[in-house]
Amino acid sequence: LLNSTITLGKNGVPVAENFRLEQSTIADTVQVGQVRVKTLYLSVDPYMRCRMNEDTGSDYLRPWQLSEVADGGGIGVVEESQHHNLAKGDFVTSFTWPWQTAAILDGDSLQKLEPQLVNGRLSYFLGAAGITGLTALLGIREKGHVAMGANQTMVVSGAAGACGSLAGQIGRLEGCSRVVGIAGTDEKCSILVQEMGFDAAINYKKGDVAKQLRELCPGGVDVYFDNVGGDISDTVISQMNQNSHIILCGQISQYNKDVPYPPPLPPDTEKIQKERNITRERFLVLNYMDKQEASVLQLCQWIQEGKLKVRETVVEGLANIGAAFQSMMNGGNIGKQIVSISK
Ligand code: NAP
Repeated sequence: LLNSTITLGKNGVPVAENFRLEQSTIADTVQVGQVRVKTLYLSVDPYMRCRMNEDTGSDYLRPWQLSEVADGGGIGVVEESQHHNLAKGDFVTSFTWPWQTAAILDGDSLQKLEPQLVNGRLSYFLGAAGITGLTALLGIREKGHVAMGANQTMVVSGAAGACGSLAGQIGRLEGCSRVVGIAGTDEKCSILVQEMGFDAAINYKKGDVAKQLRELCPGGVDVYFDNVGGDISDTVISQMNQNSHIILCGQISQYNKDVPYPPPLPPDTEKIQKERNITRERFLVLNYMDKQEASVLQLCQWIQEGKLKVRETVVEGLANIGAAFQSMMNGGNIGKQIVSISK
């Protein structure tokens, strides 16, 4: 539940204590159209920071209410069904799964999952084979202008996170000849290069990012998959080529501040963007759900073929979901941050 005793404010850094756990019971009868589910996995995501504000800044995000159950992406198993299309034992998911160990849900609000698509790794449906993977793939396809054989250099910020680690790999699969990541620790950078096939990675907390980027991208930057915004993005944009493209995926460095989304670029960066005709269009994966089915199949195929390497950081137990959210917002995760609720 959202804790009413700890205030956060539009300009605050979220902490585990913004949430509290309460014991309660669910109804014992399942009505027609409903199912009773046991929760297996819950997702914590950066957009949830916006749901902690009274005004989320987006029409498609409802604010979480104080002392009410929080919700987000979740996966569970049906234990009892009164829904015509769902049976006991089915695995199901929803974007509005309550942060509870068990729940009674409207069957129509759930999507059935096929575990064999992800070799039984169900939690992948919250990450590489779910919204995160779709964001990376559709962001690149809709806004990246990546073409086979075009010898493009892609830079990814937030590169060791859920979206970023997939975006770099997909950029390569879709045709980029050089992929460089920017992330917050040396360990993350070495995983990007050794495991995920990035050509190079820069630890933005160490050394001169602009200088390293110039050395690593001698032909300039053609595609920038931007997860973070702020200073890192100003540095990357200053090294982008004429007619290049920004995939405006997210701006996590600004989420704890009271600024509109997307935050306007500082004047010097905006001047470069205009002069070099760099595209920077808002991208929201939920606007492309007509492509969900085919895109998930593509992602699953790459996962099965070993072409898409997947990392997760898993925290156990509903009691730790607030801590998992705080940790992810602070860079504690490599790949997708997952909360495992029950086996
Ligand atoms: P994630 O990257 O797995 O986790 C967040 C990461 O952000 C952290 O691990 C941390 O890594 C980095 N970070 C935190 N504060 C930072 C700062 N001030 N400067 C630079 N990096 C910082 O999360 P995700 O779920 O994949 O989301 C990544 C981005 O995609 C977010 O901006 C999110 O809003 C966006 N997104 C957009 C859509 C869409 O439809 N457009 C859909 C899903 C997600 P470091 O150690 O590298 O700092």
